[in-house]
Amino acid sequence: MKLPFILTVPDKRPLEELHGITTLLVPLRGHTPAPGIKKRVAVAANTLLAVHPDMSLGEIHAPCHGVIKDITTRHIEITCSETPPEGSQPVAPVDLSGLDEQALCSALKELGVSVRPFTRPCKTFVINGLNPEPGMVYAEEVLSSHKEILEAALALVKRLSPATEYVLALPAGSHSSLDGVRNHFVKPEYPISLARPLIKSLTGKESSADITMVRLHDLFGLGLVASSGLPRTRTVLSVQGRNFLVPVGTPVQTLLDAALVSVKPGDTVVLGGAMRGQALSVLRRGIDKDSEALLHIPAKSKPPLEDNPCINCGACIYACPMRLRPNMLSRYAEFEQYEGCTKEYLNRCIECGLCGYVCPACRPMQQYFRNAKKALGIETLQRRLPL
Ligand code: SF4
Ligand code: SF4
Repeated sequence: MKLPFILTVPDKRPLEELHGITTLLVPLRGHTPAPGIKKRVAVAANTLLAVHPDMSLGEIHAPCHGVIKDITTRHIEITCSETPPEGSQPVAPVDLSGLDEQALCSALKELGVSVRPFTRPCKTFVINGLNPEPGMVYAEEVLSSHKEILEAALALVKRLSPATEYVLALPAGSHSSLDGVRNHFVKPEYPISLARPLIKSLTGKESSADITMVRLHDLFGLGLVASSGLPRTRTVLSVQGRNFLVPVGTPVQTLLDAALVSVKPGDTVVLGGAMRGQALSVLRRGIDKDSEALLHIPAKSKPPLEDNPCINCGACIYACPMRLRPNMLSRYAEFEQYEGCTKEYLNRCIECGLCGYVCPACRPMQQYFRNAKKALGIETLQRRLPL
């Protein structure tokens, strides 16, 4: 079955910066406010806002000068200002050179970077330079116009990773490159951008203990810190075919306005890509460091997902890149017969979304699978994990 999911765009689309943002909703992921951070406190840009004991989650910093308006379990709301609070000192860049591996990990966590993807045991470190999903269009621009940021990140990665070989996965025909990194070209059709299909294209196997893979998005985020010595307070994401480099916490509505998207009743806004993104129930939320895209789906442009019965057409079986039987998997998951899910290899599902895309019954396949994975304690992709 031929699916129209080309992962490249013919032109580069620059990273646009937004000015005049008045409010940020800086997301928390179980972080607790740092000492002294409370309502009505004025903060300077890059001030430490919130901390987390888990090394896989970086600390959170103020992306702008401003006053803290509210603190909830989900976010810290900042009313932005052009100037720093009176008497405050600018946050000094951290010198990351000369630190041993452990000190470097600690310094990066304090600067808001999740170091785990860069420290996994491996022989080959793969940088996934493809746009992850249809609807994301930042890879070409980041690779061609922001190479120095990627190179700064790579210099740090080489101090953190035990890898002896570095590979950059690219769409066939790309002229991008990184110093000391071997290019690996693939036909840029979704789902080759997902980890298991990409690893298979490299090794012939769908997983390999010798390989670790990071998204270009993560490498770029590390590069922002590596090249400045300042905390990770900005991120890149695609909105309706345009690319933005914005402060973490930029409200979804602000980004939609910038992209000239008008959301009408019944429309859907998706955080993430066209295949694996999540429909947002509220627009009053800020984007986090991992957000890669926002998509607007007008009402009635596609039929709604419903718990319709499977009509045994078999289309999902032909579409599944993991050679699973999504029809059977979805039945077991729908009726909470999780033993059946295990027998049908639910753990092999990469949540690519192709089965749901082709299903004429519009069954909510990914939702079934994510619920079943949660019940079985299988890590899901909801937190954008690449595998
Ligand atoms: S989401 Fe569907 S098509 Fe994709 S791997 Fe899982 S079962 Fe297969
Ligand atoms: S595509 Fe949908 S209707 Fe067809 S077999 Fe798969 S789950 Fe059933």
